[in-house]
Formats: sequence, structure tokens, C-alpha cells
Amino acid sequence: MPPAPPLLEVQDLRMHFPVRGGIWRRARAWCRAVDGVSLTLQSGETLGLVGESGCGKSTLGKAIVRLHSPTAGRILFNGRDLAPLSQSALKPLRREVQMVFQDPGESLNARHSVGELLAEPFIIHRIGTAADRTARVAALLDRVGLPASAADRFPFEFSGGQRQRIGIARALALNPKLIICDEPVSALDVSIQGQILNLLLDLQRELGLAYLFIAHDLAVVKHVSDRVAVMYLGHIVELADADTLYRRAAHPYTRALISAIPVAEPGRRSKRIVLSGDVPSPIHPPVGCPFHARCPHATERCRAEKPALRQPDPSRPDHQVACHFDL
Ligand code: SF4
Repeated sequence: MPPAPPLLEVQDLRMHFPVRGGIWRRARAWCRAVDGVSLTLQSGETLGLVGESGCGKSTLGKAIVRLHSPTAGRILFNGRDLAPLSQSALKPLRREVQMVFQDPGESLNARHSVGELLAEPFIIHRIGTAADRTARVAALLDRVGLPASAADRFPFEFSGGQRQRIGIARALALNPKLIICDEPVSALDVSIQGQILNLLLDLQRELGLAYLFIAHDLAVVKHVSDRVAVMYLGHIVELADADTLYRRAAHPYTRALISAIPVAEPGRRSKRIVLSGDVPSPIHPPVGCPFHARCPHATERCRAEKPALRQPDPSRPDHQVACHFDL
């Protein structure tokens, strides 16, 4: 049987922001936050997206849900391109693609009760009567492990983990197919992180959700992802199923990130690869391989020629790496 078409297919997506200056606020330069990213996501799958702060991963997530208007490229969701659609044309599709943010305290309006916040998507999309919405809100709270009485309280009355449960309930309200999870546990205590990750996994099993799971912590991404994409300076530099990526990383940047994961076994220490230098500015990205200024293996070719994604091992067609060499 031919493989099912992807739920999401991002093709050569670019998100460039103007850097304005002078009294006329003209664009003096461009910040290339996302610079030619392509990826796919199947129904019910979790694709982890990792990289250091500022690599463009959150911008990519926001462009996919169209909180940003992409500079170029296509965002095919169920075969329909979201990139050129107006906000009014996007409204029916917003039911199907939702986002969970890093800081639920900021994404939840503190002046509204939890019941009002969870009923809002139903009101915007004209779903149900007032009584029907009350029942739906109670069902959402139950689904994320909160009591129905939470509807009468305000977000500030809850802990960070409970607020993230409210954020997840709001994302679930319209029965989405895809949720962009943007660092959903980074602001939480380690003891709470596991509870939220297990909730996301349970919901995925029950509802068949697909997740694009954005995080800077590879240990967290490893726990939840089927496949993992590694981002550096606006580009995907490696993409593989989670097991292959963690066991046979082919890109020097991925290897450095993996070497920084703490080892759980007592007495065993991982050999940390420390990268020199800082991530270059996306306003003045380097010519050639975006990683060459920090790469211990860089050659003249790396400084002149940008590597395309390729298969390092023909027996693993889903493994792709953007490096000229088999290191
Ligand atoms: Fe390093 Fe060159 Fe490979 Fe880039 S192409 S990762 S600089 S070896």
C-alpha cells in the first residue's frame, strides 16, 4: 500500500523579518529566522524540533499556525496551502491546527475565568448553546485532569503545571488534528514536566493527535518523539527517527547537543563536546555551511558551499543530514 499522504507538509518555508532603522523606519537588513525549511508530519505522529535558543524553531511553529505570514514557501495541511490564506479564510482551519505555548500564564488572559477562557473558542466558532458550552468546558477540564470547579477560578489561582493543563484544554477545545507544542514544559519543575508529558502522550493515544514538539532539551524530545529534526540558524541540519538520531547522529551539531544530555547511569559519564564560539547572527548568516564557524571538521569547501540534506546511510532512507562529509 502506498504511504498515507502527510497531514502537514512544509516546503522550503522562509520567515524573514525586516530590521528597521532611521527616521523613516525603512528595512535596513533582514533577519533570516527560518531560511528554507522543509518537513512532513503524519497523522498521530510526534515530530520533535530541537535546537539552541534563537535557532528559529519557535518562529517556524508560529509560521505554521499562521501567527506569522511566511516570506516564502508552502504549508500544506491536508493538501491545502495555508501560507497565502487571509485571516478570514484561515478561520475554519484554525479548528484543526492549535498551539500550546511555553508560558500558559502569558497566553491565558488573567481577567477571564478559566470557564470563560475555555468557552471562548466555542463562541468564536459559534458552536453550541450556553448550556452546551458549560458541559463542553467541564468535559475539557476532566480530560486534562482538573475538577469542574476550576471553571469558576482565574488562571493566577493555579500552579504552573495546572495552568499548562488549562492551556492544553483550550488547545483541545475544537478537536484539532495537529498541535504545535512550543516548549510546553520548559517553564515547569522537573517533577511536573513528566506529568504534562504523560498527559500529552495519553491525549495523543486517545485522540490520534499529531504534535510538532518544539524544545531545546533533547532529553525531553527523546521521551515523546517518533522522529526528530535538529535546527541550526534557521535550517534543518539533521532529521531522523528518534532512535537513529540518538544512536547514530551524523551531524557534528547534533552530536554536541546529544553529548550534553546528562547520563542517568551512576558512575557513567558522557564525553561532552563543547562547541566554540556563538551562534552567528541570522541577520548576517555565514556563507557556505551555516555551522562552519563552530564546526571542528570545517574545511574550505564548508566555508564556500552550503550542504544540502542527503542520506548518510542508504539503508536508512528517513535519515537526512546537511553535511558534506561522512564524519
Ligand atoms: Fe562541519 Fe563542513 Fe559538515 Fe558543515 S559541512 S557540518 S562545517 S563538516
